[in-house]
Amino acid sequence: MKFNPAQAIQDLQQFGEFGGVNPSITDSSTYTFLEGETMEETFLGQMEGCFLYSRHWNPSNKYLADALAAMENTESAWITASGMAAITCSLLQLCSSGDHIITSVTTYGGTYAFLKNWLPKYNIQVSFVDITSLEQVRKAMQPNTKVIYTESVTNPLLQVSNIPELAKIAHAANAKLMVDNTFTPMIISPKILGADLVVYSMTKFINGKNDCVAGAICGSNEFVNQLSNVNDGTAMLLGPVLDPLRSSSILKNLNTLHIRMKQHSKNAQFLAENLEKAELKVIYPGLKNHPQNELHKKLMNSDFGFGGMLALDFETEEKANKIMQKMQEAGVGYLAVSLGYFKTLFSCSGHSTSSEIPLDVQKEMGLSEGLVRFSVGLDSNIEDTFQRITSCL
Ligand SMILES: *Cc1c(COP(=O)(O)O)cnc(C)c1O
Repeated sequence: MKFNPAQAIQDLQQFGEFGGVNPSITDSSTYTFLEGETMEETFLGQMEGCFLYSRHWNPSNKYLADALAAMENTESAWITASGMAAITCSLLQLCSSGDHIITSVTTYGGTYAFLKNWLPKYNIQVSFVDITSLEQVRKAMQPNTKVIYTESVTNPLLQVSNIPELAKIAHAANAKLMVDNTFTPMIISPKILGADLVVYSMTKFINGKNDCVAGAICGSNEFVNQLSNVNDGTAMLLGPVLDPLRSSSILKNLNTLHIRMKQHSKNAQFLAENLEKAELKVIYPGLKNHPQNELHKKLMNSDFGFGGMLALDFETEEKANKIMQKMQEAGVGYLAVSLGYFKTLFSCSGHSTSSEIPLDVQKEMGLSEGLVRFSVGLDSNIEDTFQRITSCL
């Protein structure tokens, strides 16, 4: 039987201070101690269940972290104030000057910019590869390679990463496989498939309300302890802590994630199949013509579908802009970046969320200037949405 991440969350029992069905929200930055000795031990990370200062750990973030660790089947997790903080803190914890990273060339624009422009300033080298070519990944390995980085389903071209094979390549060289699972929570469980670290922008599907920015890192106890170490932990020292009020609202939303993912997937599958029949160029992992359709089936958990992300190639930016404007007027959804919202969002990737990637690289990786990325919403009548889209073409 396949792992069921929704059941893993549901099985948690987290009570509020007065027996509330939701955990209490910690409204404190600092915590009292009855004895001076306990404070020192907490500082040194030797006390379980004690809290010192909210940048280090706070109970609200701990509840959310426990739920995410259950969902990913990792020993532990850490909450951050953004997806970028989760990605950058993890990479900086794993790599020092002189190390090397291999990454998929198709990643979120901010991740690409960090790997391309920021890390080399600190003498960390990065190789960009076509992550669907295991041969290219193997060839890029160096004695100083510390991390293979990818997204389960990549932004914005929706390529599927072969996590088990990438894990083998990484582990044979004593490197870590780090996977951004933002597009496919519950659908794919990277840790179960061999990844060492799973990172999230919770801003997207996990929270699902587009009312805040947040992130998470799921991994081993050892790694989370390193991140939060008071002497050299990147999360502790760079300090991207999420406010407890936000983490408590995200935790509540996490409990409806499985229902939302199923509906996002169902709607996206319907649109993808029908738009393909209407002879549009559709990229969706749930379509038979998708190059990694079989791989995705092999990797996915049962019941959650192929996700809410699909892309339509309108070839030119001009055509894409015109259609997107019309779709917004016709009530298909909003012309906006981001994803995982209850309404459909669409944007032209090359000129928005992937604009950090130089045009020649965009061309090389097959990102057409008219590619419109859709995050399909929770629409109750997707047939009607389909009619509205076709009326705009
Ligand atoms: C949005 C996004 C990020 C960045 O997350 P923020 O919460 O905006 O910092 C990283 N990876 C992917 C795949 C994303 O979609």
